[in-house]
Amino acid sequence: MMKEDRPLIAVVPLVDEKRGSFWMAPGYLLGLEQAGGAPLVLPLTEDTAVLGSILDRCAGLLLTGGHDVDPALYGQEAIPACGAPCRERDRMEGWLLDRALERDLPVLGICRGIQLLNAHLGGTLYQDLPSQRPGPVCHVQKPPYDRPVHAVTVEEGSFLAGLTGAGELRVNSYHHQAVDVLAPGLAVDAVSEDGLVEAAHMAAHSFVLGVQWHPELSFQTDQTAQSVFAAFVQAAWNWVQSKGR
Ligand code: MN
Repeated sequence: MMKEDRPLIAVVPLVDEKRGSFWMAPGYLLGLEQAGGAPLVLPLTEDTAVLGSILDRCAGLLLTGGHDVDPALYGQEAIPACGAPCRERDRMEGWLLDRALERDLPVLGICRGIQLLNAHLGGTLYQDLPSQRPGPVCHVQKPPYDRPVHAVTVEEGSFLAGLTGAGELRVNSYHHQAVDVLAPGLAVDAVSEDGLVEAAHMAAHSFVLGVQWHPELSFQTDQTAQSVFAAFVQAAWNWVQSKGR
């Protein structure tokens, strides 16, 4: 095997309370690997000495999908259709995100990732789209999950347009929550046919991007999903270069 140096990307673990286990959907790791990154799955912990020691060695942070964000984060009571939260993940990711933003570390948020980003930065979420914002577009698709099921419009001149091009993009969709009130500091990059925020970024940072769809489930067949991972890993490289290490 050729010796290669790759930027380490911290990946937030998925949590299965029923089995008492942490786990990972392979696409997150394979997508990063294929894009030239070295993914590193984090432990689930709120010990900041542990998290900090790992993050200090990483050049990027991937906020993965999973549990509904605790509505308390955006000042709401949970409605019955809201899923049970994983507060340990909420707090752990909030801490990691703050540290990442302090050092302008590249951050990619996927599905829950864009929701966590928005809630942590002061925005709100739809807790359940079918009951709070019913519409003609199905956002919870059936398998195969790499199949695009709805369109999003990528805003002309947006950060995402620099990666995928502007205009219509067909994406997969597997979410029952979404951004409602956009957080200050975030700018909208893409909107679905029924007007939901499907991608957003922080203009004040080199690479902080959230997408509501699932590039980790489609990168094998979808060029734009590959472009998102590639740009994220490139940003991690740039970050390493800028630190001179
Ligand atoms: Mn969608």
